[in-house]
Amino acid sequence: MKRTKIKDLLNTTDFGQEINVQGWVRTFRNNQFIAINDGSSINNLQAVVDFTNTDEAILKRITTGAAISVTGDLVESLGKGQRVELKVTKLEILGDSDPEKYPLQPKKHSLEFLREIAHLRFRTTTFNAIFKVRHALAFAVHQFFHEKGFVYMHTPIITGSDAEGAGEMFRVSTIDFDNIPRNEDGTVNYKEDFFGKSTNLTVSGQLEGELAAMAFGEIYTFGPTFRAENSNTTRHLAEFWMIEPEMAFFDIHDNMDLAEELLKYVIRYALDHCGEELEFLKGRLLEEEKQKPQAERSDMDLLSKLQFCLENSFERITYTEAIQILKSSKPNQKKQFKYLIDEWGADLQSEHERYLVEKHFKKPVILTDYPADIKSFYMRQNEPDELGRNTVAAMDILFPGIGEIVGGSQREERLEKLEKRMHDMHIPVEEMSWFLDTRRFGSAPHAGFGLGFERLVLFVTGMTNIRDVIAFPRTPNNAEF
Ligand code: ATP
Ligand code: MG
Ligand code: MG
Ligand code: MG
Repeated sequence: MKRTKIKDLLNTTDFGQEINVQGWVRTFRNNQFIAINDGSSINNLQAVVDFTNTDEAILKRITTGAAISVTGDLVESLGKGQRVELKVTKLEILGDSDPEKYPLQPKKHSLEFLREIAHLRFRTTTFNAIFKVRHALAFAVHQFFHEKGFVYMHTPIITGSDAEGAGEMFRVSTIDFDNIPRNEDGTVNYKEDFFGKSTNLTVSGQLEGELAAMAFGEIYTFGPTFRAENSNTTRHLAEFWMIEPEMAFFDIHDNMDLAEELLKYVIRYALDHCGEELEFLKGRLLEEEKQKPQAERSDMDLLSKLQFCLENSFERITYTEAIQILKSSKPNQKKQFKYLIDEWGADLQSEHERYLVEKHFKKPVILTDYPADIKSFYMRQNEPDELGRNTVAAMDILFPGIGEIVGGSQREERLEKLEKRMHDMHIPVEEMSWFLDTRRFGSAPHAGFGLGFERLVLFVTGMTNIRDVIAFPRTPNNAEF
């Protein structure tokens, strides 16, 4: 008999049909009621066993975590909280789960505990919901760009360029396991010359993306990105996914418009397609909020926060305006900012970004025109301002509760200006000749940005630790599986 997925059963009114369902036991009550989950839905199906007619040895094996197959008639449920249930006529244990050893119990586990068993945490309702939302967001990203006619490019994961300066990198090395070469002191002698030069894992696909954009017009990448982030924060992973569109004939304003449109599109998609999951996550968050003192509680629930983001334009201000706001602000009556911004030119700390977004504007903010000295070499140089200060056409999008979610810029398309800046910043111009060819032959204005996919998932799911929105988080001292 063909298996039916629980998702397709829960709202049916087609009662009386014989159905087979296979899944994992969440709970088994009174030797009678099994809550089964097969992953297709965050909701369980209740299967009712006729225990008077079932072998006791079998009943004992219906434990939390066991995989089972049940066949029976689908009937309307009289119980609370569900519309349908399955009256079991045939039950088979597919895989046992020793209740003494199975780490997941039928109770709410803390996220910290679940992080320690990341390989099993998908079996919880919370993680089912998070990863369904993650899936929907990834799908929506592709749909958005596809509808707009962008070409999906796969930029290399192993790269020979190390001049982007986006963060610390992972070096690539090789080893012949059949004949492990050792140094005199016994340590393994890894080789790094496989490619005839040293290589790294990509920190961004942008530079390669620019090459493609200067041929296809509009492209995007969506792939794994690696940065040896040395500090443990709730916003940084050593391996994360980044969406990087790059567009020819775009200026900084077109770039901002596209980023805002993309964010709103994918959030709308999640609201339209993950209603149940988001409703569940909202409830979960509300419970957590109740533990906090009144003053710290958020005044918006998850769904209202997402809706609000859709209905309001993002605030667009320059770095210089942001500094003025920060300098004249009192973040709270007694305390000052920990990091005082007393000079134009300093990079914003996350407390400043949070102040602008969460306290001052109370909505997403796009910050533009940062001082040239704190931004990458490829960003387009603006005319000096009235005080002679140099800025670049950079844009960062800051989200409430998240901080920076997007970093982007209009690129410097003028060869001479770009080369001069590269020299000034000690970037090996000769090694980057391939990149400069875009400026040598048919250079054109272009722009792009990087959207951190996990930060987007954090925002949409309302989670607060980035380790909880990626399946197998890679952070310092953490790469077990
Ligand atoms: P941050 O200031 O938060 O360290 P960044 O400015 O170094 O970020 P960019 O180089 O601008 O990051 O990368 C583009 C986007 O990628 C960021 O806006 C963010 O959403 C995401 N991102 C950057 N680093 C990480 C990381 N280590 N883990 C997860 N996402 C990241
Ligand atoms: Mg960084
Ligand atoms: Mg940054
Ligand atoms: Mg950035």
